[in-house]
Amino acid sequence: MPHQIITNICSGCAACIEACPVEAIEKIDNKIQINPDECVDCDTCKRICPDKCVDGGPDRYLELRNG
Ligand code: SF4
Ligand code: SF4
Repeated sequence: MPHQIITNICSGCAACIEACPVEAIEKIDNKIQINPDECVDCDTCKRICPDKCVDGGPDRYLELRNG
């Protein structure tokens, strides 16, 4: 499944845009978004996001879902 950024916790720091090897991440309507057609599932963005908001990271995702 393509990765998703939880936009309400994303700070917009753009670190993931720089890090994505296939340029699948862009800023649209002032929100950082992953293009699912381009994403190759490498997990780089998930690993480097300082706010752990790509897929929420395992803990953050559950926290938000159950929140
Ligand atoms: S998982 Fe990899 S390819 Fe997909 S958006 Fe993140 S950095 Fe880019
Ligand atoms: S690295 Fe994380 S906080 Fe920064 S723009 Fe990407 S998703 Fe948002």
